[in-house]
Amino acid sequence: MRCDILVVGAGILGLSSAYHLKAENPRKRVVVIERLRGPGEGNTAKSEAVFRNAFTSETNRVLASSSIEFFKHLEREGYNLRLAFTGYLWLLSQEQFEGVGDAIRDMQREGVRLTIYQREELERMIPRLATSFEGDEEAELLGLPPIDVGLLAHNCGCLRAEALTKAYESMFLKLGGEIHYRVEAKRLILGAVDELGLPGEPHVWQEPRVRGVETDRGVIEAETTVVAAGVWAGRLLEPIGFDPCMRPKKRQIFVLSDERLSVLFDIEGFNRHRVLPFTILPKCSLYLKAEPYEKSVWVGCSDEIGRAFELEDDPQPELEYYKDDIYPILMKYLPCFRDVRPVNMWAGQYAVNSFDGHPIVESIPGLIYVGAASGSGIMKSDALGRIVAALYAGREWAELFDGSRFRVSDLSIYRRRTERERFVI
Ligand SMILES: Cc1cc2nc3c(=O)[nH]c(=O)nc-3n(C[C@H](O)[C@H](O)[C@H](O)COP(=O)(O)OP(=O)(O)OC[C@H]3O[C@@H](n4cnc5c(N)ncnc54)[C@H](O)[C@@H]3O)c2cc1C
Repeated sequence: MRCDILVVGAGILGLSSAYHLKAENPRKRVVVIERLRGPGEGNTAKSEAVFRNAFTSETNRVLASSSIEFFKHLEREGYNLRLAFTGYLWLLSQEQFEGVGDAIRDMQREGVRLTIYQREELERMIPRLATSFEGDEEAELLGLPPIDVGLLAHNCGCLRAEALTKAYESMFLKLGGEIHYRVEAKRLILGAVDELGLPGEPHVWQEPRVRGVETDRGVIEAETTVVAAGVWAGRLLEPIGFDPCMRPKKRQIFVLSDERLSVLFDIEGFNRHRVLPFTILPKCSLYLKAEPYEKSVWVGCSDEIGRAFELEDDPQPELEYYKDDIYPILMKYLPCFRDVRPVNMWAGQYAVNSFDGHPIVESIPGLIYVGAASGSGIMKSDALGRIVAALYAGREWAELFDGSRFRVSDLSIYRRRTERERFVI
């Protein structure tokens, strides 16, 4: 098979890229291949699918804000993404709050809508929230900070990742794009920009160029191959000497659904859904999402040191991790979780770029790589697809949905210009 543009991977980044590439190049043959049975079945399906615009880094803010605006637009166009602006709520000790004081002021200056709540207000609003643990030996052993302040970011919430990937898939197909599921790219085919027909090309004195991929169903030649293979990108890129600057790390979600948690779905004052916002506790950045449509609570934790970087095809959740690591903290701050056990759980992997945490969009002749989106690929997906399309077109700037502009090379590996996120708690 031959095509103009081949996208490897039908996760959220592959499909957003494919859609924007096809929209900008209607006469080109754009083909997506995916080794699984349908769209977004890799790590996109494992996602918590929350989004926020509350960042100090301009890169984060622009990528996420413009994507959020596009998600709203999709809903207006009739795609039901189950967008719910429930907000992000950081529960903080006074010390933590003071530590991010400058970051908060910077975000407010940039127009991020935030509300600050004092401890008494939080206690009134969130039923049975425990805010201090004086004399509690267990809490002392766990090193639990008190909750003195709540910081609510408003233009944040959650959506259905599955609905978003299906929306991109459907828009791409309507434009005449092609998707082939159950086709796995086995290796990238490397040639030379100026091929001479000699054996062993490319030689070191030739400029290398990716000519397509060899799949389990045969060879696909392409003018440009977009590798959007998520945590698996290295399997294709590393054998040709391209460093994706990304390493996989396991992340788990535990779903709880129980009558005892119904208090979290009847809270006044934070959002119109009357649910607890996506909440980050002051210990271990443990987070919980009250899913407003299913009335379940999704709990997770970003463990860093102690959690290995390793690539797995089918990572498994660890119930012990819930019981021994998450539950003791959760139950102390929110006693409604006492004795509630997960009804579902799964594990996926973040594609972590430890250097600055931002995604990468890079090219060499015949190849574009988009990835390393850490834990924020869904919320930045539309902007990243547009940046891939701008890179393909050779433009210096990508025009994002909300009218903002993003310099394409700012996400390159070699010409990178990003700022570290300072709002990390
Ligand atoms: C537990 C968890 C929670 C998360 N929570 C959030 C969140 O709340 N908000 C947020 O924005 N992000 C979140 N993320 C991150 C987000 O899910 C990812 O950044 C995003 O899904 C990455 O999309 P992707 O398209 O790069 O990867 P994927 O969705 O993994 O897609 C890559 C695709 O490529 C396919 N593929 C790989 N190799 C090949 C090959 N050789 N041939 C053919 N196909 C191939 C795979 O099967 C896969 O479908 C979370 C991630 C996890 C694991």
